[in-house]
Formats: sequence, C-alpha cells, structure tokens
Amino acid sequence: MTRDAFLSVYHAIARGYAYRDLGGNVGVYRLPSFSACDAIDHGFSAKTGGVSTGDFASLNLSFTRPEQRENVLENYRIFAKAASIPWESMVMDAYEHGTTVLKVDQNDCGRGYLRDPLPACDGIVTNDPAVTLITGHADCMAFFFYDPIKGAIGLCHAGWRGAKARIGKEVVRKMTESFGTDPKDLLAGVGPSICPRCFEVGDDVADAFEADFPDCPLRGKNARGKATIDLWQVAVCQFLESGILPERIELMGVCTYEDERLYSHRRDHGRTGGMAAYLRILKKP
Ligand SMILES: [Zn+2]
Repeated sequence: MTRDAFLSVYHAIARGYAYRDLGGNVGVYRLPSFSACDAIDHGFSAKTGGVSTGDFASLNLSFTRPEQRENVLENYRIFAKAASIPWESMVMDAYEHGTTVLKVDQNDCGRGYLRDPLPACDGIVTNDPAVTLITGHADCMAFFFYDPIKGAIGLCHAGWRGAKARIGKEVVRKMTESFGTDPKDLLAGVGPSICPRCFEVGDDVADAFEADFPDCPLRGKNARGKATIDLWQVAVCQFLESGILPERIELMGVCTYEDERLYSHRRDHGRTGGMAAYLRILKKP
C-alpha cells in the first residue's frame, strides 16, 4: 500500500466514543461499534470515583505505582461493581512492553489481583464467558478485538514499544491459532491514548518508527520543532496488515494528555495513576 492509499483508508476509519457515568462519579469510555454488540461488554476507566489521593487521585487501577495495594484493590472493587463486572472474573495482563499474548480461561480468574500474576504478557485472549480481560494503561493504547462468529475476544496493552513491534498482529495471530478466528470477522478498536499532536519523541525514535512503518506518514512536527508520531496510524496499519477490514476498525480519538478525566504518564511527569481497559463475553454465539 502506498502512503497516499494508506492515508485515504486511515482518514476514513470511524472515530468516536461515548463517555458514560456509571454512578458514584465512576466513568467509562466506550467504542460505539463495540457497544452495539450485545454479546460483549467493554470499557476504559476514567480516573474519578475512587479512594486514592494525591498524585493517584482517585480511581488508580495500577498495582505498579508506589501506592498502597489496598487502595488499588478497593478501586477495583468500586469499578467492578459500577461496571457490573463479576468480582472474581478478572484476569490482568502483566505488561512488559513486549509482544507476548496469552490465552486465558476460567482457571486464570483472579490472577494479578487476588492471586499470582500471569507470566509477563501485554496481550490476553479468551473465548470463556467466565473471564473478564483487564489491561492497564496511562498513555498507552488499548487494542480491543471481538470475533462475533467464534465468540472470542482479545485485549492488549500497546505502549509505543509494543505498538511498534506490532503486538496487535500478535493478538490476531493468537486468536486465529486458539479459536480459528478469521481476521475478516474481527471488530477492532483503540482506546484513549496520547494523541498524534502530543506524542513528542526524539529523532531516533521517530526514525525507527518510519523504518518499521514505511507506508505510513506517521511523523509530524510540533510547534516546538520536535518530532511527533501518530500512534493511531501505527494501530490501524497493523490491523490492516492482519487482515482486519477498515470498516470494522474504530478509534476513540481521545487524548490522555489532554483529557483531564484521564491519567497521563507524560503530562503528570510519571507521578500518576493508571486506567484499566476491560472486555468480556456476555453470551456465546
Ligand atoms: Zn493530545
């Protein structure tokens, strides 16, 4: 695909989100395309409505911050209740900015918060309705995948390193291997993340992205004359390479750096909490 061809496809990709207050000031961002499917539930947490204070105020859902574990657990209790997620159903990623994707099932429920974490992985997939997939984020993209034919789902943490290494393709590959997913059936979506204007990088990182995604005009320049990278192009590019149809891709288009309802690792200079993405199957096809 030429750069012009990619750009015309990219600009036609659906963008949209719905912000929903679940009560108690707990909010979620949702993809309209996923919300239209009544066989699944999904969302991406806002930072309000929790018990954490200071830099982590208030719904910090990251166990990797220097914060009391009990606060994070309580925040998960609050969030799960508000989002009607069964408390013991969650399985959390154990991200390392890599491309490892694991298949999980009901035997993994509780991992990462009630018991031992999964081995290092940035992506998780399942076809088990007993499982709620959870991934952690603070500027990094969340990729959501749903196969309505096989009744399977995938979710991953795609920071710039993981996105550059095409973790999205790994999730699709794992779903095909595990569940027989045909990529043409997949719905794919991208949650809130640092946007193309705000993601300033060094020239070395920009050069590396251009080398890895030669068909994507993903490099920009901001008002300070620094290089920027459009991670949403990086997402769309790997979805298309996986065989996902452009009309089945949706970007929320929400910037974590600019939206005050969200934590941003970069805006908050690393002293910040984390959000969670979740995805679960409500009924099988
Ligand atoms: Zn932005």
